[in-house]
Amino acid sequence: QLSQRDQLYEILAVTAKFFEHALHQSQGAIALDYLRTKRKLSPEIVQQFQLGYAPGGWQTLYGYLVEQKRYPVEQVEQAGLLVPRQGGSGYYDRFRDRLMIPICDVQGRVIGFGGRALGDEQPKYLNSPEGDLFDKGKTLYGLDLAKGAIAKRDEAIVVEGYFDVIALHAAGITNVVASMGTALTQGQIKQLLRYTESKRIIFNFDDDKAGQKAADRAIGELADLAYRGEVQVRILNLPEGKDPDEFLKAHSPSAYQDLLQDAPLWLDWQIQKLLANKDLSQPDQFHASTQAIAQLLGSLPNATLRTHYIHRCAELLSRGNARLAVQLEQDL
Ligand code: ATP
Ligand code: MN
Ligand code: MN
Ligand code: MN
Repeated sequence: QLSQRDQLYEILAVTAKFFEHALHQSQGAIALDYLRTKRKLSPEIVQQFQLGYAPGGWQTLYGYLVEQKRYPVEQVEQAGLLVPRQGGSGYYDRFRDRLMIPICDVQGRVIGFGGRALGDEQPKYLNSPEGDLFDKGKTLYGLDLAKGAIAKRDEAIVVEGYFDVIALHAAGITNVVASMGTALTQGQIKQLLRYTESKRIIFNFDDDKAGQKAADRAIGELADLAYRGEVQVRILNLPEGKDPDEFLKAHSPSAYQDLLQDAPLWLDWQIQKLLANKDLSQPDQFHASTQAIAQLLGSLPNATLRTHYIHRCAELLSRGNARLAVQLEQDL
């Protein structure tokens, strides 16, 4: 007799297989073509990530799981796969005519799905609802496949999207997980840090508004640890507003590796950002910038590092005016 949770795991695993199978039948031809031509993914990668296709009918999965396989309908609903009909009785499939991406826990068990529209339908992504097994705040997409490489390279890359993880794997860069577009939680950070001994994380979020916001929030969550030097956080912003998947379609893996190598430490990145597009010959902008920098550096407990940054900032602010270092030091 399986426990309730084990039943859910089983239903989700069986469903992942069902979607995978459908991808390779005639009904999945458009989805498979999407993966090959639009996403340029090899059959090996498609298989490694267990990508699949949810057929287009209203009760295709229902028919398979409930009628054919005899899984209790309440459990299939609890697994997030069915939606109760409004007002009436019965259920319909949550995922219809979508490319299906299984989301796994760290042990590689399927706990949910991301479903991508094949065209411009909204929403672009439909994800499993949270439930007994799927807790968004505790899940990092791809961690099951990345944890070995994270430990080996002693560094974790965090991206936003499913296909960013998949494209990086295809490019041979496998120490990568996705936040799935939501703000990183302490739980996710803690889980990730387990695998890198030197606690090195690189954020590579999209160069768009949502990505900027995600980076700011992630830094906020990590700031205390980072100030104390207990984690080493770097920020990679790709050029031309691209996400990693788009970048790798236009550039080689080694071009990505080069940018990764040069990604600035978060404090440097913050300072750069503070000073971007500032006209420091304007007294008000100059004043606001020094204040913001003083605030940023004021929380740095290591005196040597603080002095280092103060001098760097003074240089940046004044192009070498040493008096500013003195002023900043007084402000702090
Ligand atoms: P694609 O490359 O497939 O067009 P993307 O991954 O670049 O998509 P973004 O808009 O950058 O998509 O969003 C990043 C991630 O945020 C997605 O991979 C997905 O996990 C999540 N996401 C995006 N849109 C939604 C949505 N409407 N509902 C739920 N999650 C979403
Ligand atoms: Mn984006
Ligand atoms: Mn993106
Ligand atoms: Mn993308």
